[in-house]
Amino acid sequence: MNEEINQTCKLELFASLESNVRSYSRSFPAIFSRARGSTMLTEEGRKLIDFFSGAGALNYGHNNQAIKEAIFEYLASDAVVHGLDMATPAKLQFMNTFKSAILWERGLDYRFQFTGPTGANAIEAALKLARKATGRQNIISFTHGYHGMSLGAIAASGNRFYRSASGFSLGGATFLPFDGYFGPAVDTSDYLRKLLTDESSGFDRPAAILVETVQGEGGINVAGEKWLRTVQAIAHEVGALFIVDDIQMGCGRTGKFFSFEFARLSPDVVAMSKSLSGYGLPLSMLLIKEECDIWKPGEHTGTFRGNNLALVAATAAIETYWRSPRFSQQVQQMGEVMRRRLEVIASKYGNGFVVRGRGMAVGFDCQIAEIAAVATRKAFEKGLVIERCGPVDQVVKFLPALTIDRETMEEGLELFDQALAETLREVRTPASCNGS
Ligand SMILES: *Cc1c(COP(=O)(O)O)cnc(C)c1O
Repeated sequence: MNEEINQTCKLELFASLESNVRSYSRSFPAIFSRARGSTMLTEEGRKLIDFFSGAGALNYGHNNQAIKEAIFEYLASDAVVHGLDMATPAKLQFMNTFKSAILWERGLDYRFQFTGPTGANAIEAALKLARKATGRQNIISFTHGYHGMSLGAIAASGNRFYRSASGFSLGGATFLPFDGYFGPAVDTSDYLRKLLTDESSGFDRPAAILVETVQGEGGINVAGEKWLRTVQAIAHEVGALFIVDDIQMGCGRTGKFFSFEFARLSPDVVAMSKSLSGYGLPLSMLLIKEECDIWKPGEHTGTFRGNNLALVAATAAIETYWRSPRFSQQVQQMGEVMRRRLEVIASKYGNGFVVRGRGMAVGFDCQIAEIAAVATRKAFEKGLVIERCGPVDQVVKFLPALTIDRETMEEGLELFDQALAETLREVRTPASCNGS
């Protein structure tokens, strides 16, 4: 009891010390002190299962042992941690490892650009490069897309709440309907092709088409193989760069290392961040096709590019998980387990719930924002950390660590099931309001 009072007092301190902008400390009101794998401990000794994974930055779990050892060893040796973008053995090793274990295995060839540490900065760099390479300004992005909070990235993101917070007129991007925006009967890539190839459609020729293969923040909206291949082909037909934002869905989240592998895409530029370091350390980069690498030296700069500690962690993550196809198979199997269980839950309660996703990124669309809000709050009270996404936060987003064990996964899903059952007993749905 005392512990609980203590916790409440401390949380009030956060409310008075930290800006009003804080958000996850509101969704998850606890003081998190330690974590390992898929469990987090609060200061008061509560144990929680993590299905949030740092918004996709912790694909290999918290404090992953293999990665931690590499970090310890590097720190103990007094090797260079910060060196702007100077040449270091750690960076060379990362590039060689990534090239041999990831790129060559997939028949891909790219140059590496280490950007500032945020995903948003990688997107800024990608958009700048596309505009510079084509001499055009317009970026085609998609409804419900999310690319970060800096002005260029937010201009290409759909969410009205975030857009208006920028306090700036956001131009330079045109939004087109993502795959399935009008339901399964309408192929939105037909619309895209017509608008972009018609000389009088009113569309400026784009510098780039920027896409997520699965929209993470937008509600776990999944683009199909044919749609993605068509969008890539259209980009090339109209002389635009084809950019995949793999910041959240990359690093194995959808079952393969890159989220676009399944569709055999070959993007001109790939943006990576979140789980790239594998340890939650900030690291972002662009993979750029050699012919698109038209930067002049120093044109996109920044103090924290390619932090060596994060590069060492990233190398260890690749060596540990991506040298054999086993991990990828395991992720696909666990994704199936999670999805099947969620489909059972969805049909058990009816309510028009929809389950969608790819690999271990699965969304449970409650259709009604209040149901998702109450269910995730109750889930947290029961010991599950889980986030919401989608235009009105009506989708519960399942992003457990890719390394989660079966038992913990089942336990977390059970907590969600119980939370949802309680929610449906309490929240009046439109049908019950009508007295039916
Ligand atoms: C998180 C995210 C970003 C922005 O990354 P930050 O590190 O938060 O700037 C961009 N695109 C996608 C798809 C993301 O999920």
